[in-house]
Amino acid sequence: MRILGIESSCDETGVAVFDDEKGLVGHVLHTQIAMHAEYGGVVPELASRDHIKRVVPLVREVLAQSETSMHDLCAVAYTAGPGLIGALLVGATEARALAYALNIPAVPVHHMEGHLLAPMLEDPAPTFPFVALLISGGHTMLIKVEKPGSYELLGQSVDDAAGEAFDKTAKLLGIPYPGGPGLEKLAQTGNSKAYHFPRPMLDRPNCDFSFAGLKTAVLNAVHASTDLEKQKADIARCFTDAVADTLRHKCERALNLTGLNTLVVAGGVSANTAIRSLLSELMESRGGKAFFARREFCTDNGAMIALAGMMRFKAGQIGTLGVDVFPRWPLDSLKAL
Ligand code: ATP
Ligand code: MG
Ligand code: FE
Repeated sequence: MRILGIESSCDETGVAVFDDEKGLVGHVLHTQIAMHAEYGGVVPELASRDHIKRVVPLVREVLAQSETSMHDLCAVAYTAGPGLIGALLVGATEARALAYALNIPAVPVHHMEGHLLAPMLEDPAPTFPFVALLISGGHTMLIKVEKPGSYELLGQSVDDAAGEAFDKTAKLLGIPYPGGPGLEKLAQTGNSKAYHFPRPMLDRPNCDFSFAGLKTAVLNAVHASTDLEKQKADIARCFTDAVADTLRHKCERALNLTGLNTLVVAGGVSANTAIRSLLSELMESRGGKAFFARREFCTDNGAMIALAGMMRFKAGQIGTLGVDVFPRWPLDSLKAL
């Protein structure tokens, strides 16, 4: 059985084909980063229009790449939320239209469930139960995952998401949007002893995060800097260390709280090498294991939607005949599989 997965929640059009026996058999992606860069962030209307232009050619391309005939498809999965409403509607309408035409079900997928399950595209895949750390452009969450679909929220950011903190800090340092990858590169030449930025909320006995204060500390360092060109690598390095350290502490707390010893880390920020290393070290020191997706599947992609869609489809959780999109959609409201 093969499913087509379509992702269009923000600024990436991603399409993939997942086979329940062979795994991922094709995936293609168009990122709108260059288009939005001159505005310093995603412009929702431009995003929707670009998804409209890209989605059909990408569907054709991925079917050819994976040598899949449309008639081989058992269902079409699409990101139904959370995300930008106009952008979501493009993928949802394409998926629903294809499903009508082929007389197969359309399967609405939660974007964050897609991110959370993406490490299962790798070998070895994590096994349930585990603690998931979701760190993306719009979310920072710790989740207890008993089994697919059973998501208990342990904590989340009370202000900025981790990716947002990366993007805002990058902006202060003159790195173009989205700043995460550029900031990572800059940090590699920085001195980790140059600054000590705050590790927010470590004193609180919960699994919540806060990154707004860290951003202010970076802003103060930028203002106080006498030679920003020289010091920005140090700022990037110390900022990354502060985020990584905060994530490590909160993961440790979540693991202790749940008694689990498997950590799954997903979302765009999980592409960051320093964060991957620190969390891998944490799990090694506990005799457990950390799992990540390959870097290209940390940020938005169709593969994670096809995989999550296949799991929902197999459990009989298909969509209605309408175009279902939910710009806001709590992850812990999903049905367990
Ligand atoms: P959400 O998934 O919460 O709806 P999103 O889809 O916009 O938000 P993702 O695509 O998962 O988020 O990730 C994008 C974010 O990841 C951006 O904030 C980006 O800066 C960050 N990011 C990408 N690569 C890296 C990296 N190497 N280091 C740090 N951050 C990174
Ligand atoms: Mg994106
Ligand atoms: Fe995302």
